[in-house]
Amino acid sequence: MNPCYVGRFAPSPTGPLHIGSLLTAVASYLDAKAHQGQWLVRMEDLDPPREQPGAADAILNTLQHYGLHWDGDVLFQSQQHGRYETTVQQLLADNNAFYCTCSRTQILAASGSTTYPGTCRACHQPPATPFAVRLQVQNKDVSFEDDLQGPQRCNLQQQGGDFVIKRKEGLYAYHLAVVLDDALQGITHVVRGSDLLESTFSHWYLQEVLHLAHPHYAHLPVIVNGEGQKLSKQTYAEPIPRQDPGPYLRYCLQALGQTPPATLRGAAKATILEWGCEHWRLQQVPHQRSIPQQKL
Ligand SMILES: [Zn+2]
Repeated sequence: MNPCYVGRFAPSPTGPLHIGSLLTAVASYLDAKAHQGQWLVRMEDLDPPREQPGAADAILNTLQHYGLHWDGDVLFQSQQHGRYETTVQQLLADNNAFYCTCSRTQILAASGSTTYPGTCRACHQPPATPFAVRLQVQNKDVSFEDDLQGPQRCNLQQQGGDFVIKRKEGLYAYHLAVVLDDALQGITHVVRGSDLLESTFSHWYLQEVLHLAHPHYAHLPVIVNGEGQKLSKQTYAEPIPRQDPGPYLRYCLQALGQTPPATLRGAAKATILEWGCEHWRLQQVPHQRSIPQQKL
């Protein structure tokens, strides 16, 4: 086992796996296994109103069915609230975060956009009305090199502004949870969909504030439908079936720019995944934000 590589797949249990999420699972699995690394699974169940009962189990069963066996125990974010709260309180105590009672309408009125204008920055006592907690961002560029999408740069204060780490409803924000859990699990390599590329600026920034190591990032092209929309529950993406995994695994390899030989047609899932690990070249994945869905 290579101690310098720990990867992960982190689905939200909002519905069953579709071909777009399988593509991300396969890519992160192959990149980890090709490096003799560990591949962890984390269930990002932070937002109960958006979740579907039974979806977490269905996702895990589907991964097993496709031969994508993870290392160690699955981490459930719904069981990590204590750690998230400790960090929120620490960031508040250090004046890196503040309480905010602004509504979307107020933010739009104040800044003319969805970028938060810093209205409540001086608010360091919990207000009597429902509040969010925001991380204060500096007026400076955040930059990192994405292994697939190349150099990235963004000034968070100008694009989005101070971002929410705990929501008004009391839910913890994705940015906070993902950064803390990547650190807890010792994740060294994040391979995920390009729809999360912009989120990475917030993650990078939070890692700096919390003095955490930055993982390597590779953002894959996401599969889009005929209308150019990312496949998701909202765009009625079909769940991948529980029949023969072979054709779907070969489809993923092809979409990821790998070139599975014709001899893999009809091969068992383990054989296809073994071939995938042996021949995996991350740099052959299309360096694009999206790829159209092809017929299987
Ligand atoms: Zn505010």
